[in-house]
Amino acid sequence: MKKFRPKKRLEVSEYIEGVLKGDRVVLSRAITLVESNLASDKRLAKEIIQAILPHSGNSIRIGITGVPGVGKSTFIEAFGKLLIRLGHRVAILSIDPSSQRTKGSILGDKTRMEELANKPEAYIRPSASGDTLGGVANKTGEAMLLCEAAGFDVVLIETVGVGQSETAVHGMTDFFLLLMLSGAGDELQGIKKGIMEMADMIVINKADGDNVKKSDLARRQYENALHLFPPSESGWTPLATTASALKNIGIDQVWEKVEEFKKLVDHNGYFLKNRQEQQIQWMYNNIHEELKQLFYGTDQIADRLKTLEQDVVDARLSPVKAAEIIIESFKKSI
Ligand code: GDP
Repeated sequence: MKKFRPKKRLEVSEYIEGVLKGDRVVLSRAITLVESNLASDKRLAKEIIQAILPHSGNSIRIGITGVPGVGKSTFIEAFGKLLIRLGHRVAILSIDPSSQRTKGSILGDKTRMEELANKPEAYIRPSASGDTLGGVANKTGEAMLLCEAAGFDVVLIETVGVGQSETAVHGMTDFFLLLMLSGAGDELQGIKKGIMEMADMIVINKADGDNVKKSDLARRQYENALHLFPPSESGWTPLATTASALKNIGIDQVWEKVEEFKKLVDHNGYFLKNRQEQQIQWMYNNIHEELKQLFYGTDQIADRLKTLEQDVVDARLSPVKAAEIIIESFKKSI
């Protein structure tokens, strides 16, 4: 069997210098390290992240979600091109839970955002893969820091609106954008109330052609729905607008609102406070992930768990007792 050999690594200093210079090849290689599960890569990645940390953070981080087909990639293409025209550099990362199970990820499709992908002011990286959403989210968070250190001042983090990943994206971004369609109920769009509640802005996409009137009606309905939620701690009043990503209508308005939001939260202190809280949460996420790996990565534990599973199935042990036994033996092993 062919043995897996990692590609030759650079020196830590080469990664750091390359990233800080905005070298895209080195940036990509640094992100590959962050995504790697090899212990040696992880050590290297941690050193790099620690070194670039003072150069990170200087961006506005925007989360973008919506069900498949709502027009996320079309929107990001139009939005990204607008931002570049305005002189920004845009990094696009994604959290795609499906990539944990299948090799081909929905968001990793290379044909998406083709024009944007060819621009030097844009950097697009498909979703990291991993066993757990928490692990994938941590990797995306580190990729985000690397992009910021490489000089990207707008980071878009995209996710498909079908599960828990929205919460992860919300937890690492400053502004949360929800794309919706007119003429389909919330249930139809698979958007849960909790996700709407996280939104700073709802954009009813595909407001073009015959769809304009319906989209405006939907906009008013969503705007009313947003008003029913308790006021956000940011002091920002979430709003709903219409847009056509395909026809490039209403896209500039989204950026205007993001800028308005940024001004408000800079002024009232929420921007910094939220970032600080997110950092703390991120530390705990890492602790949880490391602990899980430490525990489940131990061979004895894996073997013992199989026996315990059978004991639980056969009702020889209660699930609580079985958990206690394995945790006790883990504690003794460390
Ligand atoms: P994603 O799965 O959310 O990334 O959605 P895509 O961006 O791939 O778009 C799904 C389909 O909707 C594609 O055929 C797009 O051309 C179309 N689409 C996206 N935005 C618009 C829009 O504003 N208006 C119209 N009419 N179609 C759109």
